[in-house]
Amino acid sequence: MRIAGIDVTVDWSLLIIFALITTSLASGLFPQWHPAWSPATSWLTALAAAVLFFASVLAHELSHSLVGRANGIRIKRITLFVFGGMAQMENEPGRWPAELWMAIVGPVTSLVIGVLCLLATGIGASAAAQMSSVPELERLLAGLDPGRTLLLWLGQINIVLAIFNLVPAFPLDGGRVLRAILWGITHDLRRATRFASALGQAFAWILIAAGIAMVLGVSLPYFGSGAGNGIWLAFIGWFLNNAALTSYRQLLTRDLLQDIPVRRLMVTQIETVWPDMPLDMLVSNFLLRTDQRAFPVMEGERLIGLVCQRDVERLPPAQRHSTSVREVMKPADQIVFVHADDDTLDVLSLLAQRDINQVLVLEHDHVAGLVRRADILHWLALHGSPKSPTRRGDGPR
Ligand SMILES: [Zn+2]
Repeated sequence: MRIAGIDVTVDWSLLIIFALITTSLASGLFPQWHPAWSPATSWLTALAAAVLFFASVLAHELSHSLVGRANGIRIKRITLFVFGGMAQMENEPGRWPAELWMAIVGPVTSLVIGVLCLLATGIGASAAAQMSSVPELERLLAGLDPGRTLLLWLGQINIVLAIFNLVPAFPLDGGRVLRAILWGITHDLRRATRFASALGQAFAWILIAAGIAMVLGVSLPYFGSGAGNGIWLAFIGWFLNNAALTSYRQLLTRDLLQDIPVRRLMVTQIETVWPDMPLDMLVSNFLLRTDQRAFPVMEGERLIGLVCQRDVERLPPAQRHSTSVREVMKPADQIVFVHADDDTLDVLSLLAQRDINQVLVLEHDHVAGLVRRADILHWLALHGSPKSPTRRGDGPR
């Protein structure tokens, strides 16, 4: 599905939460509000409410994406999944005001949707004020038709969504707002991120602790009690904790590798092979004697292909003496290259995207060296990265 030029994909895990919302509304909340409703009315209203809920989550994500795009950020796609929505960015905001507007527009969108829904119920402030007594409230709720019941639920859930996202816990929207402000004050993105993700982790652990307490039978204000709700809350906390850690590590990697040309990390002393070499010789003289796993195939001065350990492994050992490198190599026009001046960060994401472990480095159309994923990770470890991720830009929004 494409909306405003942005790919929207729906993850299968969304079905879980979709079923959960529909069931809990149809068999829990709606019959409680409307004892007189038939099961069919409850289920149809619940189904419509769940659909509209995801439509409003999508609107929230789209608002991030559109403001991001206006600030020069390319949005790969929006994914709707079990925890809501996530916009995958190809690059991060380069300036703090862009980050600030992009982050804050999501909760504002949810808040506006929430308030509009509540206004559309027509309940009005004076009636709402009288709802303090339980019989009044029950009478008012029972008097709502399915449409207004749906709007009442959708309105309050969107306001809850806005408030939850505004908690200053990175990578939630509120955490991004906080990071942008700290970034603006300190001019130090790394410090701002470290602080915001520490708060994010703290919040995540509070959710996990609250969830566990609920599983153990404690009743908490607003969250209530019950093992099911508790497990769900702890699960959200666990997810947030991972997201906070990953985002910070990604930033460190980005920080360490940006503007480092691949020339500084590549291996230049590399073995090359010739096309007519039998594979058993490649194994015994090269693969077993060096730690190199990919070999440029040269015909004189000219590069004609690349042969990797994986290409050899595909062949049964018995056939190796009668097969030449030329028969299994990847021809030159199919090899992925990078240039010696390329950013190492881009090379690392290229390796991750293609699921390859090394790539040839060219300089002035000649083979200058080979850069391996392990070399980049080794370099990161030596330059102060805690653990090295291989992907980037997948933080939830
Ligand atoms: Zn958001």
